[in-house]
Amino acid sequence: MIELNLPSLLYTSAAINVVMIGVLLHTRAYRRTYPGFTAWTLAVVTNIIGQLGLIAYESNTQSIVTNIFATFVIGMPILGWYGLRQFLDLKPNIFWLVAFLAASFTIIVLVSLQSETPYPRRAIISALGLGFCLAGLMDIRRHMSKFVQGGTELIQSGLILSSALLTARLVSIWPLLFDAGLPLENAPQNAYVILVLISVRLLWVLAFIMLTQQRLELELIQSQTETQSLANKLKKLNAELFTDSRSDALTGLANRRHLDEELAFEWERHYQYKATLSVIVLDVDHFKLYNDTYGHSAGDFCLTKIGETLSDIATHCKGLAARYGGEEFTLLLPSTDGRRARAIAKDILRRVEDLKCPFPASPTTGSRLSVSIGVHTTIPAHPSVSDAFIQDADKALYAAKRLGRNQIQVYGQD
Ligand code: GH3
Ligand code: MG
Ligand code: MG
Repeated sequence: MIELNLPSLLYTSAAINVVMIGVLLHTRAYRRTYPGFTAWTLAVVTNIIGQLGLIAYESNTQSIVTNIFATFVIGMPILGWYGLRQFLDLKPNIFWLVAFLAASFTIIVLVSLQSETPYPRRAIISALGLGFCLAGLMDIRRHMSKFVQGGTELIQSGLILSSALLTARLVSIWPLLFDAGLPLENAPQNAYVILVLISVRLLWVLAFIMLTQQRLELELIQSQTETQSLANKLKKLNAELFTDSRSDALTGLANRRHLDEELAFEWERHYQYKATLSVIVLDVDHFKLYNDTYGHSAGDFCLTKIGETLSDIATHCKGLAARYGGEEFTLLLPSTDGRRARAIAKDILRRVEDLKCPFPASPTTGSRLSVSIGVHTTIPAHPSVSDAFIQDADKALYAAKRLGRNQIQVYGQD
């Protein structure tokens, strides 16, 4: 039968505390820790020192060294509470820590100096420990939302159990306070209380490590979610950037780069299938004069209207409308022969006429804005796109300009 006496239990408690320090140090070395971790480790260290010191000096009640060790014992709930506040981001002030320790020390010394037995000091230590356990419990309950589940329940049970035991200890010590002659060994209830307190401390440390772990997991999940949403944003921005980099800001049509890409692709496809590829090049007539007469924004408005018309036609004939530059537009027409391309060009000419952009000063029409159009059709003879394709359409366009504007000219047809 193992004897359940106070010194042997204090030794057991100290040994368990050493194991707990080992666990805490291991956590510090190999895992990410959170605020409060150092205070929690120090709590265990001070408790060990306090307990070992008390084992050696217990009988010497009024010695100052005994009371210093007794203060070290109370260091555990104070530092534990302090660490818990740090973990909860409640930012405790170091001043309060020192003040509480100093106050505890003063009270312990004052009580000890007045008494012959260790009971009044034990009562004080129990009362102070109870106070800090309740403070920690209140902090957890008030700031519960910051906690993660699991470790919370464990740490709360530890604190509730500690509080209950300290209360029981206070109650058991109470009659002894007035019985100066009672020897230590006659108070076995103290030994049982300490036995349970050892388990409670173990529970605290386990809970703290569990809380740290859960917080880490929570942060991991949060950062994963953030990374995912950032990746989605980036994807969206990339898509927008891709669209922006391939379209013209004023008209929303494809820009030169997009046209070049599309032309290279279609050219090779048409080369493979020996299909006819057509292109229409369009330039607004006397647009400089229009701008000079009606202003740049009126010119922009006309360009937008012509852009809309081309976009509409491109949708119907499955082509690609692009702003080639300035007031020049291009319509790439896959699988379209010369006749069809010419018909589409006529449609453009008619629809621009229908826009009825007033331009009385126009040397060509004398009433409205007009465009000149060059058309070119070919069956690609080489797999890589030839610059001559658009250039030849341009030649037809210049011919249309030369021959009086507001008309269509087909390359290769005089
Ligand atoms: P032509 O009939 O021979 O084509 O004569 P033009 O005046 O249309 O040709 P020119 O090349 O001399 O002038 C083109 C004008 O187009 C000059 C420029 O101010 C205007 N322009 C180019 N880009 C824009 C634009 O984005 N907005 C506006 N409002 N005007 C533009
Ligand atoms: Mg022009
Ligand atoms: Mg021009």
